[in-house]
Amino acid sequence: MSASAARASLDECERARSMQHGRRQLIARGFSMRGLGVQGLSACGLGVQSYLSRAALRIFVLVGMAVSVAPAFGEPAGRIIDLTHAFDSETIYWPTEEGFVLEKGAEGVVEQGYYYAAHRFRMAEHGGTHIDAPIHFYADGWTVDEIPLDRLVGPAVLVDVSDRCARDADHRASVADFEAWEKQHGRIPAGSIVLIRTGFGRFWPDRKAYLGTDERGAPAVAKLHFPGLHPNAARWLIAERKINAVGVDTASIDHGPSKQFETHRVLFEANVPAFENLAALDELPASGFSVVALPIKIRGGSGGPLRAIAILPDVSAGSSAFAPASD
Ligand SMILES: [Zn+2]
Repeated sequence: MSASAARASLDECERARSMQHGRRQLIARGFSMRGLGVQGLSACGLGVQSYLSRAALRIFVLVGMAVSVAPAFGEPAGRIIDLTHAFDSETIYWPTEEGFVLEKGAEGVVEQGYYYAAHRFRMAEHGGTHIDAPIHFYADGWTVDEIPLDRLVGPAVLVDVSDRCARDADHRASVADFEAWEKQHGRIPAGSIVLIRTGFGRFWPDRKAYLGTDERGAPAVAKLHFPGLHPNAARWLIAERKINAVGVDTASIDHGPSKQFETHRVLFEANVPAFENLAALDELPASGFSVVALPIKIRGGSGGPLRAIAILPDVSAGSSAFAPASD
C-alpha cells in the first residue's frame, strides 16, 4: 500500500469511527439500528474500506433515524418535507431552455379490459428542482452519476437570508450572514448540507417575480435578478466549514446578474454539488434535520432533476437528526 493509499485508508477509518460514534449516540437516544446490518467498520483492521460501504453506512444511519420516528416504535412521527417543485408546463427553466414537456401516451382502458397509462417526458438537465454536478463548471469535476451518495444524504442546516433579499433582490449570502447564523445556532458542522433560504421560493412559479424577467431566449439572461451565494462565502464554507453540498431556493447558486458564475466555479472545483430551485425551505428549522437529495443517475450528466426531501426528527424527543459524519 502506498503512503497516500494508507493515509486515505486512515481517513476512512477515522470517518467510520466518527460514524460509529454517531450510531452509538443514536442508540443512546433510544434509536434502534437492529436489523439494519451496518457493515464496513471491521474493514478498518485491514486498512481497506470502500467508498460504497461509507455511503451505505450513512444511509443506514439515516434509515435508522427515519425508522426511529415511525409510530410503530412508540414515538410520535417525525415530519418528511418535500423540497421539490413538481415538474409540469409551468416549471421554471433558464430563459434559454425549452422547459419541461410531458408527451401524453397511452391513457385509458385497453382492449383487454385493464387501465394503462405511460407517457414520455423531455427536459433540460438544469431546470426545476435540480442538481448541478461539479462538471457543470469544472472539467475534472464529478458527473452527476459520479457524485458520492454521502454528499447527497446527511445532516443539514438552513441559513435564512430572506430579510436581506427582500431589500435587495441581487443579495448574495455572505460570510457575515453565515457568521451571524452561527452566533445564534452554533458552528456549521463539517459534512453539512447548507441550505440558503432567500425567500424567493414564495414566488414560484411566477417567472417575473422569481427570475426578474419572464422573457425567454438569450437576451433575457441579462435581465435576471434574484439572490444567490457570494463566491467568498462559498470559499469560506468549503475551506473553513468543509461542507458537503449547498442548496438554494432560486434558479442559480450565483445571483441573477452574474456573468462569470464564480460561485459555481468555486464550489465545483472543490467537488461540492449545488441544489437549485428548492421548494418549501420556509418549513425548515435552522438545524437538527437531514436532507436526502437524489438526482436522476444520468451517466456523464452535468446535472439533472432532483427529488429532495428533508427529514425532521421528533423534536419532543430532544434529538437532532443524527451526528455529522465528521467534525
Ligand atoms: Zn443548474
